[in-house]
Amino acid sequence: MNSRDLPSISFVRTRVRNLLRMLCAPLLSAALLFGPCRPGLAQYEALDLVPEQAAPTLPAGGVTLFQNVRIFDGKNSALSAPSSVLVRGNIIEQISVDPAATAAGAGVRVINANGRVLMPGLIDAHWHMFMAAVPPAILMTADPGYLNLLAARQAEATLMRGFTTIRDMGGPVFGLKRAIDEGVTVGPRIYPSGAMISQTSGHGDFRSRYEVPRTLGGPLSQSEITGVAAIADSPDEVRLRAREQLRQGASQIKLMAGGGVSSPHNPIESMQFTEAELHAAVEAAENWGTYVAVHAYTPAAIRQAIAAGVKCIEHGQLIDEPTAELLADKGIWWSLQPLTYDADVFARMSPVSQKKALEVFAGTENAYKLARKYKVKTAWGADILGDAGAASRQGQYLAMMVRWYTPAEALKMATADNGELMALSGFINPYPGKLGVVEAGALADLLLVDGNPLDDINLVANPDKNFVVIMKDGKIYKDTLSK
Ligand SMILES: [Zn+2]
Repeated sequence: MNSRDLPSISFVRTRVRNLLRMLCAPLLSAALLFGPCRPGLAQYEALDLVPEQAAPTLPAGGVTLFQNVRIFDGKNSALSAPSSVLVRGNIIEQISVDPAATAAGAGVRVINANGRVLMPGLIDAHWHMFMAAVPPAILMTADPGYLNLLAARQAEATLMRGFTTIRDMGGPVFGLKRAIDEGVTVGPRIYPSGAMISQTSGHGDFRSRYEVPRTLGGPLSQSEITGVAAIADSPDEVRLRAREQLRQGASQIKLMAGGGVSSPHNPIESMQFTEAELHAAVEAAENWGTYVAVHAYTPAAIRQAIAAGVKCIEHGQLIDEPTAELLADKGIWWSLQPLTYDADVFARMSPVSQKKALEVFAGTENAYKLARKYKVKTAWGADILGDAGAASRQGQYLAMMVRWYTPAEALKMATADNGELMALSGFINPYPGKLGVVEAGALADLLLVDGNPLDDINLVANPDKNFVVIMKDGKIYKDTLSK
């Protein structure tokens, strides 16, 4: 490489700053805003795993019997009577209140739960495994192999927080997903979107402001090369980029359909893409049996997306009442995050972003109120980017939902309801089978909780202590009772 090809330090800095500002708006949660040079060691704070906890302890096809559990099944707001749950292979085979009906045979691993609560593994509908815990400065400059190893560590930590499934709403996770599914490394089920598709100057265009003009068909920008984003202008380009994600195994397509809080090159009020461009992605997705989800805050952006056939709105905090009603009438999913004021994060924002952020924080209250009022299908997700500390608090973002919902409603959202959203990926669903419920025939993703989360949802905020057994796909990844 000759010196002309080496990016100047100021160029790299600009890129890093842009990424800080422009990744998903909910980044506000903390991520974006800490300085670009925080030591990489911070990433490991959340990863204090011991190897024997993380390694699967049963081969596929094993049999596990949970005895004397009270079940939160993902749907009902009351616990079951004391029951036994038999798992064979990766399926919940039988649930019974009669201990004799599920008697332990030879070779059966018995977990005597002593009345503890068994619930479905948690599902995060808006997560970014590749980027959740990696500081943007590292994300934009480090070797991809290194970044994938960090993502693998984060995947393991995510599973150990009780999240047995995540819908990844942008980032290069196809290889990671494969490695997890093959048992090469440990992590949750991943429903990948691949690259976030954005128009030029859209919320997913991470280039520096003056990195123009782009030649159509010319060299790709850094975030496009790594598979974080794909820039597309015209229905044809959108169609191409959407199909490229599907080819790699995307289970749904993610587009940026409106402005963001943290991105400096687009107003939050901006509508992004035209209806024809969004529709091109919708056609490509629907031809593959699946759907498009879009980043959008405002009524105008949301309405254009709905008109184009989009099936899931991400964020939407600035929605108005008629548009919330429209979501309900059309059965559109609303993937909403509990974005609220955080003094620490706020202090690190630019004045322009602060102004936008206050609007969004205020919008969060209104959004949940409207979601409830119109019974919109609502999904829960944490949406953390670039902040290992915030990523480690994934469960806390679920626990804080009791500001608007009962614990049972919040937990239903992060289990059965999110499971229903995962199934929207249709015939390309990478994990066909029921997720997010404890019922006979469902996939065996289960948590055994020391305490009753329907009484105290804060139990999910401290998974190390309170989740005594974590099972995914019938395999046990943590069991502190048998020690
Ligand atoms: Zn996001």
